[in-house]
Amino acid sequence: MATEPELHLSARVCPKCGSKNIRLSALSTVADRLYRALFLTPFRCRACRKRFRMFSRATPPSANDNQSDNS
Ligand SMILES: [Zn+2]
Repeated sequence: MATEPELHLSARVCPKCGSKNIRLSALSTVADRLYRALFLTPFRCRACRKRFRMFSRATPPSANDNQSDNS
């Protein structure tokens, strides 16, 4: 039996602190939209507040639906 590789697609963790407590971040910049075309979706870590991008097909909210996403 092969074990799951460490970097499984569903294992989304913060690259800074390793927390799994992350959420989708709104597309707020032009760069976000460009990366989005490559399925690089912005996330934010709830633990350390770092913003980062990773491959995901999940759809983040657009900045027009403005949530409180202040850092
Ligand atoms: Zn973090």
